[in-house]
Amino acid sequence: MTPINASAAGSPTGRLQQQDNVFIHPWEDLAALGGNHRTIIARGEGIHLIDTDGNRMIDGPGGMWCVNIGHGRREIADAIAGQAMTLGYFSPWAVSAEAPARLAARLAAAAPGDLDHVFFTTGGSTAVDSALRFAFFYNNLMGRPQKKQVIARIGGYHGSTHLAAGCSGKLSEKRHMDMPDGVHLLSCPKPLLRPAGMSVDAFCDARVAELEAKILELGADRVAAFIAEPVLASGGVIIPPDDYHRRCLDVCRRHDVLYISDEVVTAFGRLGHLFASEAVFGIRPDMITLAKGLTSGYVPMGALLISDRLLRDIAGAGGDARVFFSGFTYSGHPVAAAAALANLDVIERDGLLAHVRRVMPHFSARLRALADLPVVAEVRVIGLMAGVECTLDAAHPHEDRDYAFTLRVDRHCQRMGLLVRPVYNMCVMSPPLIITEAQIDRMVDILRAGIEQAMAEVAAERRA
Ligand code: PMP
Repeated sequence: MTPINASAAGSPTGRLQQQDNVFIHPWEDLAALGGNHRTIIARGEGIHLIDTDGNRMIDGPGGMWCVNIGHGRREIADAIAGQAMTLGYFSPWAVSAEAPARLAARLAAAAPGDLDHVFFTTGGSTAVDSALRFAFFYNNLMGRPQKKQVIARIGGYHGSTHLAAGCSGKLSEKRHMDMPDGVHLLSCPKPLLRPAGMSVDAFCDARVAELEAKILELGADRVAAFIAEPVLASGGVIIPPDDYHRRCLDVCRRHDVLYISDEVVTAFGRLGHLFASEAVFGIRPDMITLAKGLTSGYVPMGALLISDRLLRDIAGAGGDARVFFSGFTYSGHPVAAAAALANLDVIERDGLLAHVRRVMPHFSARLRALADLPVVAEVRVIGLMAGVECTLDAAHPHEDRDYAFTLRVDRHCQRMGLLVRPVYNMCVMSPPLIITEAQIDRMVDILRAGIEQAMAEVAAERRA
């Protein structure tokens, strides 16, 4: 990370930046520790963030794909305060409470198929770890303890706990980081990567065949689960070909491999539906992992939906030792559950799913038009999530150089009123779902100007 916004040392913002130096942020470059003068955000209002110097920016990444209903919602603050005063904590081992009970029932009722059971977690990574632990536990009870291998994809992201990080497929992020055994990564289902002359259909055939070949190579009796985000989010909004998920699910069913759909990003309206697996991609997976938009990021919470079939299988396998030794102090935390219920109320009351479906075409058309900029290699958009991929030299993409470019774009955009979230060579846009068409126009105008200014800067430096 290069310094974006170093403020004068003695100013209030400068003092906060000094204090922030001991905050080890996610993906912190420890070699640069102390030199990262991050913008310090003071407030959020609707789709905007306001920094400590009073600069107002559109929250392009929507927090981290999570602030679905927008910032500063009185309804959520009231629900959190009310619950904290009524009951701030209960032991989920010993007893239960109203808010998580109501939330569990509401999620199960809205979920596709027979995903009728809810295991609460503290976030997305712990939802993914819980899904994998459940898959292993399931196979142990089913009398096949050797069925433990997991298949994931290059470009996928599933979290930062040990197992979830193991399933994440950004190879450069595994450097110096120990990884669990038993995870196998398939190539990325990114149509842009297909060889010249290959149709998208043939590319899809190849990716699905690769999954089946991997299961056969490892032995179907050794493979527990396939885990996939419907749209690879942090990997750069990678949208697999049509029918890819349905066909992968068929392969999994044929070989008795569990399908875990990681909807940490895609659920709760990002693609215009509460859950995307069935509504957008036509699949009913065995488990779904959730977080982020569940509370719109106001407080941490995740959840794992488990299909009734799996619980019936376990019951049918006999034996009375069926304790799932897994859970968290904060499983079903009442304050988080109250925030989630209020969040679902807002999504429903304000018709946010329909709103997303209404503005999606405008969001897509405006962003796709950025492809006329010479540095933009591809613009991928689905629902209200977009990745604008920038490559300075199309013939020779270079991760560090292109990342330095998108960081420049972010710096220019922040100055003009838009926070961008560069992910390597991608400018990611996933604004709060309440964004209007006029605000989309402003967001894209700033992004275009930011890219143009960064291009001009690079050109000037090359000439110098
Ligand atoms: N799965 C996906 C698809 C994600 O995008 C993320 C977070 N970006 C996670 C899991 C991990 O969630 P958390 O950071 O809440 O642990």
